[in-house]
Amino acid sequence: MSKPVVAIVGRPNVGKSTLFNALAGEMISIVKDTPGVTRDRIYADVTWLDREFTIIDTGGIEPDSKDVILSQMREQAQIAIETADVIIFITDVRQGLVDADSKVADMLRRSGKPVVLVVNKVDNFEKYMPDVYEFYNLGIGDPVPVSAASRLGIGDMLETVAAYFPEGDASEEDDDRPRIAIVGKPNVGKSSIINRLMGENRVIVSDVAGTTRDAIDTEIVHDGREYIFIDTAGLRRKSKIKEELERYSIIRTVSAVERADVVLMVIDATEGVTEQDAKIAGIAHERGKGIIIVVNKWDAIEKNDRTMREYESQIRQVLSYMPYAEIMYVSAATGQRLNRLYDMIDMVIASQTLRVATGVLNEIMTEAVAMQQPPSDKGKRLKLYYITQVSVKPPSFVIFVNDKELMHFSYTRYLENKIREAFGFKGTSLKFFIRERK
Ligand code: GDP
Ligand code: GDP
Repeated sequence: MSKPVVAIVGRPNVGKSTLFNALAGEMISIVKDTPGVTRDRIYADVTWLDREFTIIDTGGIEPDSKDVILSQMREQAQIAIETADVIIFITDVRQGLVDADSKVADMLRRSGKPVVLVVNKVDNFEKYMPDVYEFYNLGIGDPVPVSAASRLGIGDMLETVAAYFPEGDASEEDDDRPRIAIVGKPNVGKSSIINRLMGENRVIVSDVAGTTRDAIDTEIVHDGREYIFIDTAGLRRKSKIKEELERYSIIRTVSAVERADVVLMVIDATEGVTEQDAKIAGIAHERGKGIIIVVNKWDAIEKNDRTMREYESQIRQVLSYMPYAEIMYVSAATGQRLNRLYDMIDMVIASQTLRVATGVLNEIMTEAVAMQQPPSDKGKRLKLYYITQVSVKPPSFVIFVNDKELMHFSYTRYLENKIREAFGFKGTSLKFFIRERK
């Protein structure tokens, strides 16, 4: 299921990071750290009541001169408009309304995106409320007073934000055309791959109706089946600052991956797999999306009979957290193997949506338990009662046991392997939830 994306925009020092941390730290559903992926806090998954969304902090750099601040804010706002479903525009009651706030508010209003105007640092409601009313002048709706530092008003703010979420993620969920995000570092060949795929097939390029974001999606018909490609390369932004470029590229990747069923993780064969690739692939892995690793520029390297195996072992090592991902070696320049991408995409989607009957799952679990005894601790042995699949995309399972503490991750991994041996589930991660039943 695709989760809404919420972006935070605001001047330096109004409290963006503080708000982000308050949301990410307390209400975040703790996702296990992905090995090899450094977690810079640009985005986080948040669960609030029964709603899940991804929050992104668009601002990182703090320029010193006033002109730079405004241009920087415009840039942030533009990124938010392009990638988010809802924008939190945060201001500071202590600094009051400043000119840059009004300019950015105008820009956000014209975009037509849902905006929640948040006034921060209202640590004392009685004292500061009179100053909050001034923010009505921005003309972007009712100001929501919060204190990010003391976590006041956050619940009301989230309620206002969540009211803008698409009902049950309506528009895109109704659309059963596969959505494929093409991600990867700059210059690995993302655009070339899309162009090549378009060149060989009947093509309609369109803004896909019903998307709440402004990304230009490309629809490609192959063998009578429609596929929507989400390109993260298309919207290129010029910036002199390297950290800023990297931040924007990550924000765009998060937003594209969020909307996708399958992610094509493009790697440049002439460079090999790098730590930055691991960071980008981690975004898709954490979100449980279908993944295909596409090694591009295969035409441009010297090859012998061992080359493919050498690439594979290097990729498996650097991207060790996703052994389930399929690897393809292609060339956008010559078109080599690109047509096989569609079969691979179909297969990964089948894996993502596969449902296994409870009876069959329990047979496999019983057999697995008979073959390898479950772990024990201090004389108490793990008992596995029952397994059932609770959802798809990614396929998720609940295992009922006598004592959660006894369920070592290596035993879960063992069961996962048994399930994969039986059903494949190629190209998708699997999730396991362990519950106790006395
Ligand atoms: P950013 O530059 O927008 O990310 O702002 P920060 O989150 O770094 O916060 C800037 C400063 O404002 C820091 O010194 C924070 O401690 C302070 N701050 C943030 N939220 C609040 C708040 O709710 N009340 C008060 N009094 N200070 C806050
Ligand atoms: P993007 O930034 O990931 O969209 O990368 P581009 O599609 O713009 O490609 C970057 C550069 O790599 C361009 O100069 C392309 O011509 C080149 N390129 C892309 N795919 C291939 C390929 O399969 N083989 C070779 N030799 N060059 C490629």
